[in-house]
Amino acid sequence: MTAIPDYPVGTNSAVPGLESSFADDLSGLSVPWQGTEVPEPELLVLNEDLAVSLGLDVAALRSDDGVAVLAGAAVPAGAKPVAMAYAGHQFGGYAPLLGDGRALLLGELVGGDGRRADLHLKGSGPTPFSRGGDGFAVVGPMLREYLVSEAMHALGIPTTRALSVVATGRQVLRDGVEPGAVLARVAASHLRVGTFEFAVRRGEIVRSLADYAIARHYPELLDLPETGETNRYLAFFAAVVEAQASLVAKWMLVGFVHGVMNTDNTTISGETIDYGPCAFLDRLDPAAVFSSIDHGGRYAFGNQPAVLKWNLARLAETLLTLIDPEPNVAIAAVTAVLDSFDERYDGHFVSGVAAKLGFADATVDRALIDRLLTLTAEHGADWTGIFRALADELRGNGDPLDGFVPREQIGPWLDRWRAALAEHGRGEQEAAEAMDRVNPLYIPRNHQVDAALKAATGGNLGPFETLLEVVTHPFGRRDEWAEFASPAPRSFTDSFRTFCGT
Ligand code: AMP
Ligand code: MG
Repeated sequence: MTAIPDYPVGTNSAVPGLESSFADDLSGLSVPWQGTEVPEPELLVLNEDLAVSLGLDVAALRSDDGVAVLAGAAVPAGAKPVAMAYAGHQFGGYAPLLGDGRALLLGELVGGDGRRADLHLKGSGPTPFSRGGDGFAVVGPMLREYLVSEAMHALGIPTTRALSVVATGRQVLRDGVEPGAVLARVAASHLRVGTFEFAVRRGEIVRSLADYAIARHYPELLDLPETGETNRYLAFFAAVVEAQASLVAKWMLVGFVHGVMNTDNTTISGETIDYGPCAFLDRLDPAAVFSSIDHGGRYAFGNQPAVLKWNLARLAETLLTLIDPEPNVAIAAVTAVLDSFDERYDGHFVSGVAAKLGFADATVDRALIDRLLTLTAEHGADWTGIFRALADELRGNGDPLDGFVPREQIGPWLDRWRAALAEHGRGEQEAAEAMDRVNPLYIPRNHQVDAALKAATGGNLGPFETLLEVVTHPFGRRDEWAEFASPAPRSFTDSFRTFCGT
């Protein structure tokens, strides 16, 4: 396939004001492209709150012109959509050219506060990067990304956001024939570790890319010098390490298993990206794997911090020549930063668990936390439910906790916890209330997600809409949502598998 030479001059004004700094400033990292026509577009879901916060006109998005843009069938006037190039380590093996094989960067929206966000389509048709793929996506997985990314946002976890899903009316071949769909998502950017892996093999562009990424995500570093011990590229690497250490700690705190942590799915911004075979844990189990293709358990729940650090080492390799012309000096510098990952991760994780246990600060005995993790894992307790049960325990209702761990096992730990709260001057009622504000009741439970997506694929969006409402309001109990607070039946979980890139 050859690149389209010129951008079409469109008259579609449903999404005005799209800029294209990535395409304009970084030549060679993208290809001008546009989506494929769409037989019968039908807007399945639109995130009106997000649209409004981006300054977009909801009525315009719902119009035929708007839906055509969201489906990839029309280019907004003035936009310069591109397919982005990137490389990546997939399951540890290097792939020199991946890129947007079924996606497009439509452009960038710049808010009143100057914040720039990518508007990106997934499932918009083949591109020069499609390799063997058909370039399309289908309703179930696109609604899945919509639901889970919005749930993550509601949980306070940095993530790409979902703007819409449009069914295309195209029949797409997967296991069988499935209804096609296009997801529109919004991200701080789509710069990935894999973007740097691609750029570094093309010479000086990697410096421009790093400067672009710094300006966009870590502008406070722009004042640092380009060379020397405190150079901006080393500081940039440290900033990404910090953002990702914080992110993966948040995943661990809610039991999120990304499932395909390849370097092309690791962002520079520190947002969660690419909800393919992801899932939430019920039972706490470090070995939990849901993805059908993760045979070796590389991306198992408990491996996520270590894999993230490995991915960051791949980023470090792309920055060496910018950090110091002397390889040994550069390697020593990035190694020192990379070595700080464990401590950073641990700090975020421990302060997160401390908050989940009702403490006002993170100066909590590590042994107290470790013992709770051991008890929870040993008894296969639900990693979401147990924290709400612990808050109930503080309020004098021990029944929920009895459903998770036998009292004779957890009794001594409970005594230590209550003593620690008292030492911190934390009243039990106050602690219980603080816990309920940070410990979700409702997460996307795998069996419910599965059922909602099956119904939606069959044309019934009702269960999806209900579940979306539930998981985007994760903290406040509602009586009519009782069924959404329970883990999946064990028989479901034992055979549950998720699928990638579908
Ligand atoms: P993912 O696992 O979704 O992050 O995708 C990995 C790579 O495979 C990216 O380069 C995608 O663009 C590409 N890809 C996934 N599904 C398809 C598809 N149906 N057609 C073309 N490319 C695809
Ligand atoms: Mg990806």
